[in-house]
Amino acid sequence: MLRVAVVGSGPSGVYTAQSLVEQSAVPGVRVHVLDRLPCPYGLVRYGVAPDHEKIKSLQNNLRTVLEHDRVSFVGGVEVGTGALTPARLLELYHAVVYCVGAAKDRRLGIPGEDLAGSCSATDFVSWYSAHPDAASNGFDLGARSAVVIGVGNVAVDVARILARGAEELRPTDVPQTALGALAVSRVRAVHMVGRRGPSQARFTTKELRELGSLPDADARVDAAELALDPAFADPAGLPAVNRRNVAVLREWADAAPRDHGSRSIRLRFFLRPVELLGEGGRVTAVRFERTVPDGDGGVRPTGLFEDIEAQLVLRAVGYRGAPPAGLPFDPASGTVPHLAGRMLRDAAAAPGEYVAGWIKRGPTGVIGTNRPCAKETVASLLADASLLLRRRPLGDPLDAMRKLGLRPVEWPGWLAIEEAEAALGLALGRRSVKIPDWEGLLRAAYGDTSLQHP
Ligand code: NAP
Repeated sequence: MLRVAVVGSGPSGVYTAQSLVEQSAVPGVRVHVLDRLPCPYGLVRYGVAPDHEKIKSLQNNLRTVLEHDRVSFVGGVEVGTGALTPARLLELYHAVVYCVGAAKDRRLGIPGEDLAGSCSATDFVSWYSAHPDAASNGFDLGARSAVVIGVGNVAVDVARILARGAEELRPTDVPQTALGALAVSRVRAVHMVGRRGPSQARFTTKELRELGSLPDADARVDAAELALDPAFADPAGLPAVNRRNVAVLREWADAAPRDHGSRSIRLRFFLRPVELLGEGGRVTAVRFERTVPDGDGGVRPTGLFEDIEAQLVLRAVGYRGAPPAGLPFDPASGTVPHLAGRMLRDAAAAPGEYVAGWIKRGPTGVIGTNRPCAKETVASLLADASLLLRRRPLGDPLDAMRKLGLRPVEWPGWLAIEEAEAALGLALGRRSVKIPDWEGLLRAAYGDTSLQHP
């Protein structure tokens, strides 16, 4: 029997587990899906916006895999510098697949980035997703004007959440504290700003359209600014998604001003952030330099500047892989070096260690992109099976983890968290509401008052 640990229970980890148990080349494969958190599903639980219920419902598919009789969820165990190092983990399994994602956010590297009121969009997402590591003091939405830097899908998510009324989010599982802050939010203007042109924006068309159809917010673009992009006039040579985006933006530019909502979302382009301006340690505006297309897909600066007022700035300029302790790492790409999913240590394939998902290919693509990515890695692992089966893993992995002082949360522990969240929702007169803190999660998972998380 081949015993495999998958580290990370987000989509890439779960699709890896699924590929492993669905293949027939090696019968009887057993998979433990480990996670640092006591909750499974990674970014589907802690990244997909609460109002995207259809994407959230992917959890049901992931659940089916984690409930497979040859797959076990093992939450609350961190692989890294603590008791459970990668070397120790490899002693417990024939193979380990790291699906740890890209945990950090990219920075702008411009003056003023650390002023109060300037944050990463990923921190904002963690807060409204009830991630237990989110800053406990949360977000004060006293700002009138917010600037979101970047025009990818994360930028669209945070702009949309800022522009939605709390009542629209009440039926979701958004945590109660975030709902309370959104209910008294003073944000009226949201500016979402791209450094290149509309034809180069990274958001997908469905997400863009949704921004234009919010019940209480008006999405606007400036026709003259869009026209700076040559591909806007002639989108024929663009990839399909960009062509569709251009078509939506053109509809918005051509539409008569609606002014129907109490909030506005303005999409801006060809503005490169150069500095965050502040007063008394708090951000007051973002200074942008206007850019123009360089004819080669990039932009060049013009020496002309524009300040946009902002008491809240969210930078949504992409995720970045963090070096996983004890694993090789390429800082330039933010990924673990690999060959078809086989981890490379000192440029040579490390038998027994594999990667899949964002830590393998970088933080791009939609959830479904993880399927073929996981399949490729599993094909490499299975091709190595006869070699891997010569290794002799030590004893029962969960017993070994307990001996190391860890306290794994198994599937019943996760189900207890789900029940506690349903009960919390009932008490608040809402549907299931997420528990936002470690203490609450562990109390539910362990079913006792001993909350220590080793
Ligand atoms: P992304 O798609 O890579 O977009 C990053 C944005 O930041 C781009 O507009 C980029 O502009 C801009 N940017 C980067 N560095 C910048 C700088 N120094 N100054 C100004 N702008 C800068 O990243 P993301 O939005 O974090 O999304 C990550 C992945 O998750 C994507 O594959 C996304 O589709 C996926 N996702 C999907 C959904 C969904 O399906 N609903 C939701 C969230 C995330 P340039 O293009 O000029 O570099």
